[in-house]
Amino acid sequence: MTDSIHPSPLAIGATPLTMPIIISGPCSAESERQVMETAKGVAQAGVKVFRAGIWKPRTKPGGFEGVGSKGLPWLRKVKETTGMFVATEVATRHHVEQALEAGIDLLWIGARTTANPFAIQEIADALRDSAMEIPVLVKNPVNPDLELWIGAIERLYNAGVTRLGVIHRGFSTYGLDTYRNHPQWRIPLELRTRYPGLPVICDPSHIGGRRDLICPLSQQALDMGFDGLIIECHCSPDRALSDSAQQLTPEALAELLSGLVYRNTPVPPDSLNSLRGEIDRLDGELLDILAKRMSISREIGEYKLSHRMPVVQPERYAGIVASRISRARDLGMSEDFMRVILAAIHEESVRLQVEIASKVK
Ligand code: PEP
Ligand code: MN
Repeated sequence: MTDSIHPSPLAIGATPLTMPIIISGPCSAESERQVMETAKGVAQAGVKVFRAGIWKPRTKPGGFEGVGSKGLPWLRKVKETTGMFVATEVATRHHVEQALEAGIDLLWIGARTTANPFAIQEIADALRDSAMEIPVLVKNPVNPDLELWIGAIERLYNAGVTRLGVIHRGFSTYGLDTYRNHPQWRIPLELRTRYPGLPVICDPSHIGGRRDLICPLSQQALDMGFDGLIIECHCSPDRALSDSAQQLTPEALAELLSGLVYRNTPVPPDSLNSLRGEIDRLDGELLDILAKRMSISREIGEYKLSHRMPVVQPERYAGIVASRISRARDLGMSEDFMRVILAAIHEESVRLQVEIASKVK
């Protein structure tokens, strides 16, 4: 099934969502006044799709768990008074049924729900039973597991949901980090490579967790070719009942959106040929060097085997990492990048050396 997801373009009814898709609104609907005031500002900023969480999945009990279905008529009022489409998060069959009944135009599935195949199947079944053609955006699971993310997309697609897109909202980490949820851009980029027709929207609010990170993250996502942004916005962010630190005022949202640079100029076919030729040649050299390195690694593996030495020598590896990182820094490359490359090379060397030992047994 995996290779046969062919999503339809994202559209609400007969109206296609034009790229980049910008969705904005509060983390949570809190009161009719807050929803309407925020919606007015969001519409003025030029946004066409309004978001507001009605049912809020909270990590711990005791937090604000959303106003529930009494907020649905507020979203209908947003539609009627501003002309924006409206979107909310669903996590159960009951949410889906109530949201569809209330005329919600677009649904998203939260990160905690995507991580739970039972919940996703229940939502997929409810959408199949409704036979409504509503677009659904699937947030990445909280943990960096691309297959779990794809599994959720497949469950929905198999239930007949074809207006599909995804939202990259970063991944949980333990301990201090600049980000609330680490972006690990490799994962959404891999998803885009596997499913080129699947729109990928970035959620800089939940990645950053802080107002000052929203702008740079948004620009970074657009520069990487993301198809849109979902940004939290609240009429008085400091008084928000959830995610207060990451919500923008409508004025800040308008300023952000007008300052973003959209890269939509098609590349003239020949203008990058010579640089791309150079990259192809260098990649060839890199591969030759890696193959040579792996073959030496195999020889070392045989030596270790015949001398009963363990495959992994942590001090040696620590020394390699320290010296390569220091040289990478001198060459203007980032430490994070070098760590990822070294870890991948080391993992493969260890795998080869263990393979040698297991063949001899
Ligand atoms: C949200 O969008 O408000 C939300 C709860 O997000 P996530 O599922 O990404 O935590
Ligand atoms: Mn939120």
